[in-house]
Amino acid sequence: MNRLSILIYHRVLLEPDPLLPSLPDVRRFDHQLSLLKRCFHVLPLSVALHRLRQRRLPPRAAAITFDDGYADNADFALPVLQRHGLHATFFIASAYLNGGQMWNDDVIAHARQARLAPRALDQLLDQLKYRPFEDRLRAARALAPPRHRDLMMTSAQVQTLVRAGMDIGAHTHRHPILAAVPDAEALADIRQGKQVLEDIIQTPLTMFAYPNGKPGADYHQRHVDMVRELGFTWAFSTVAGTAYEGSDLLQLPRFTPWEPDRPRFLLRLLAQRRVAV
Ligand SMILES: [Zn+2]
Repeated sequence: MNRLSILIYHRVLLEPDPLLPSLPDVRRFDHQLSLLKRCFHVLPLSVALHRLRQRRLPPRAAAITFDDGYADNADFALPVLQRHGLHATFFIASAYLNGGQMWNDDVIAHARQARLAPRALDQLLDQLKYRPFEDRLRAARALAPPRHRDLMMTSAQVQTLVRAGMDIGAHTHRHPILAAVPDAEALADIRQGKQVLEDIIQTPLTMFAYPNGKPGADYHQRHVDMVRELGFTWAFSTVAGTAYEGSDLLQLPRFTPWEPDRPRFLLRLLAQRRVAV
């Protein structure tokens, strides 16, 4: 059974947040990693991908990834990963490093101030998600109270992750839905995201994660071709399922283990094993 489960995280909070119930806090993340280690062979993503190609994956192989570049990844997730001796790959949208904030966090800040329920927040995010890129940014910013400048990583935190042995991947510069912007803009954004991060870590990037990540909705084959032309070896969607030796290396599946309680988290992980993509 040569299959790889690739997990996506976004944030690890210091304390649970009632407005964002799907995000793990440090304790829940710690429990999830304990469980993962007990039931899976967790490998660094690049090691797992080499073994996948050579059909040498251990049984129940898994790898951990983080998207977007939140500061809490370096502040809170990294120490937990290190305590467990585990490795993760961090896909970072480079425009928001050093004091930026993504549009969805503008909307979340508004929801917190307006005391919206989690469901109302989700509806608002869904309404705005597929608006044209600039329009979406403007609408979110118009709603939002003044920003915290420390939500996303600094360049120094990216370097800290690398020094700790973690891997960095590209995730575009401004995190547009690629299918929703002109092709020239999509290409420029993917290229810029790669260059900015390579300048920070002084190493060529080989891995890319498509923003939002649904094929046919968020990106198309022409974007896969752009990713190849820009020199990436591996790219990741958000299609649920496990990778196998026949998977498209530029559209590898990943999924979010969001179940808040432990048995369901495990069941969800194991259920994904049946679907090879
Ligand atoms: Zn993202």
